[in-house]
Amino acid sequence: MSPLTAVGVGAAIATAGPALTAVGPLRRRCNPRLSGVSSREHIALTFDDGPDPASTPAFLDLLAEHERHATFFVLGEQAVAHPGLIRRIRQEGHELAIHGWTHRCTLAAPPTRLVRDLRDARDALEDICGTVLTWFRPPYGVLSGEALLACRALDLRPVLWTAWGREWERDASPATVVATVLRTLRPGGTILLHDTDRHAPHGDWRRTLEATEQLLAGPLASANLGPLGDHWRDGPCEDGSM
Ligand SMILES: [Zn+2]
Repeated sequence: MSPLTAVGVGAAIATAGPALTAVGPLRRRCNPRLSGVSSREHIALTFDDGPDPASTPAFLDLLAEHERHATFFVLGEQAVAHPGLIRRIRQEGHELAIHGWTHRCTLAAPPTRLVRDLRDARDALEDICGTVLTWFRPPYGVLSGEALLACRALDLRPVLWTAWGREWERDASPATVVATVLRTLRPGGTILLHDTDRHAPHGDWRRTLEATEQLLAGPLASANLGPLGDHWRDGPCEDGSM
């Protein structure tokens, strides 16, 4: 792979599907940690929107087969519905992180509700898995000012991504997901995929699973790849504040 360079995350909020708010080039330069960029030649592998009993076990099986670990950004309401799956994620050495209580844009909730939702999700996950959680990634990547304040109040660290698969697009296939990830992935980058299609209007978790298999068996087979907890040499703050 080429040396670490700025990575290409889009600059718009999509109206449907697991889209994002931009992390533009300026923000990537000023705050690479928020964008998921590390100075290490390490790739962080992350999955959003689970846990889902229909699909998450298949991703866990695949990761075990390849002896890889990842970070799972989960929803509080899904976690309390499937605590055994949360425990399995943790017991198999993966990292748990917060994606919200429900899959709702942070702009849609009043600030007090947002703090309550994130606190509820954090407390529920910590009760189930017995570990302290570090990371928050907002649904759709929309990191509002209120969301940043909520993170500060709850001592959570927001993190977005540098490469994604756009699996929710109508014509997505394993090949397009792989190509889309590789288009912007650089050493030190963070990959966003989804271990469920519950929040993707045209999604199919099986093509994400196949794409993940292709990435792990092919281009990323020898990469230094793992969860966000291993992404920064000296911990989450290495590359700057918030
Ligand atoms: Zn999501």
